[in-house]
Amino acid sequence: MLNPLELAHRILAEVIVPGDLVVDATMGQGYDTVFLAGLKADVVAFDVQALALAMTEKRLEQAQLTAKLILDGHENVGQYIEQPIKAAIFNLGYLPKSDKQVITQAETTLDALTQLLEMLVKGGRIALMIYYGHAGGLEERDAVLAFVSGLPQREFQVMRYGGINQANHPPFLVMIEKRL
Ligand code: SAH
Repeated sequence: MLNPLELAHRILAEVIVPGDLVVDATMGQGYDTVFLAGLKADVVAFDVQALALAMTEKRLEQAQLTAKLILDGHENVGQYIEQPIKAAIFNLGYLPKSDKQVITQAETTLDALTQLLEMLVKGGRIALMIYYGHAGGLEERDAVLAFVSGLPQREFQVMRYGGINQANHPPFLVMIEKRL
């Protein structure tokens, strides 16, 4: 079966066509950036850690793909993107293999999400992979859930996908689609 991240990729790929502008809001190790670039989308990717850019750059090179990598917070997305976007993805939490000190934060995550929802074309989709097992994770999870629960049903379809019987803190997926 597909795990939530694989499902996120599948659901995003359904709407992305070559040349679409898409955003990776949390580059991390670069898996999502490489996935989106592989769909021939124009990818703009953000991270606040130079290590994430280095890992992503390496992965892109290996796959012979390109993307625009930005060393800045996703809450500043409006400074870099002016056109409508087709899709975006967030992987919340900390960068695996790093010191776990730098984590995504509820306030900046929701700031970025609000801006990206505004930029999203009708029929466009945003994926949020919610990791909440780390310190600060529950607060961010609850803030994101409260926010997306309040999105008007007329304008947005919001779905939640995740495992049922996993131990510990299984990550889950929130998908948002702007209605036609
Ligand atoms: N938990 C996921 C990985 C998340 S990586 C997993 O286990 O696979 C999250 C990334 O978001 C980190 O690389 C971190 O540096 C980055 N990040 C933190 N705050 C950010 C912000 N404001 N804007 C963009 N990226 C941010």
